[in-house]
Amino acid sequence: MSSPIFSFGLIADVQYADIDDGMNYSKTRHRYYRKGLQCLQHAIKYWNTSEQTCFVLQLGDIIDGMCRNNGKSNEALNKIYECLIQYKKPIAHCWGNHELYNLGRNDLLKSVLLPRFSITNEPAKTSENSGEIIFYTSEKMRQDGLCCYHFTPGNGFRFIVLDCYDISALGRENSHPKKVTAMEILNKMNPKEEKNDHTSAVDPKYVKYNGGVHKDQLEWLESIIQHSQNHNEIVVLCGHIPIHPNATGGKICLVWNNQDILDIIHRYSCIVAYFAGHDHVGAYFCDEDGVHHCTFEAALEAVPKSIGGNETAFATIDVYADKMEIRGEGDIKSQTLKYRNMQ
Ligand SMILES: [Zn+2]
Repeated sequence: MSSPIFSFGLIADVQYADIDDGMNYSKTRHRYYRKGLQCLQHAIKYWNTSEQTCFVLQLGDIIDGMCRNNGKSNEALNKIYECLIQYKKPIAHCWGNHELYNLGRNDLLKSVLLPRFSITNEPAKTSENSGEIIFYTSEKMRQDGLCCYHFTPGNGFRFIVLDCYDISALGRENSHPKKVTAMEILNKMNPKEEKNDHTSAVDPKYVKYNGGVHKDQLEWLESIIQHSQNHNEIVVLCGHIPIHPNATGGKICLVWNNQDILDIIHRYSCIVAYFAGHDHVGAYFCDEDGVHHCTFEAALEAVPKSIGGNETAFATIDVYADKMEIRGEGDIKSQTLKYRNMQ
């Protein structure tokens, strides 16, 4: 078999906290809070030994909301930092709800979880580069305090990272217009007092731990995709929250305006996949246009080997001209993703 053009590492929902193991909200699955960090450490060691791996995609929720209850958000983030600096190449971070339980956007913007951006109002830089990975965002996205950006590892591939909590009840002060909009949406679509309870919602996705993408970010997204389409690039879109109802177990973990993103994706043939975390059990669906929707299993919930589990959950993805090979470790399954129009 020929060698890949490049490879990258991927991990989702580490949710580290220095607390004893617990259960999820519905008491159906165990959570191994300290072990999440060990899983990340193990993954980084693994990727450091792989020459081909040129960046890591961290899909969000790297620290758990519980840290805040103990006043240990920054302590937890420091532990994560000590772990992340062991990786010698770039890390592309997504922001999830748990980041926003711990820190406001203004603090996150100054944290280790914000990649260093180059700001350009050009739609996108083309992909011939020196092999150095540069994260680009626009002035408008930066001013809005968003963690959305794009980058290319070269060879005609581009990754676009969305900020799925652009319109959100989390991370901003009550008077912020985007928080006001988020609360209007939630109050209208989910009348229950407890906004994390989906049982009375018009659609179960209208819960506080999900969020939406403002039209400004959608316009930015489309401008990047348009550029990629014009330059024959292959594009992978990523965000913390899934966007396809069939790529999430209970159809709960979805971006509020997921259809707006799907509509954009389906207008451009250059997009081959959408990668997300957030829904810990993981899911996969190939939609009617051949776009692969991959929701990756949480590192937090990888059951220790000592009690019969898979111990870990991360992946290394080998990228070829016509497909990606997901090499899963532990809970993440290995899988081939053939690009649409090439199947
Ligand atoms: Zn999440």
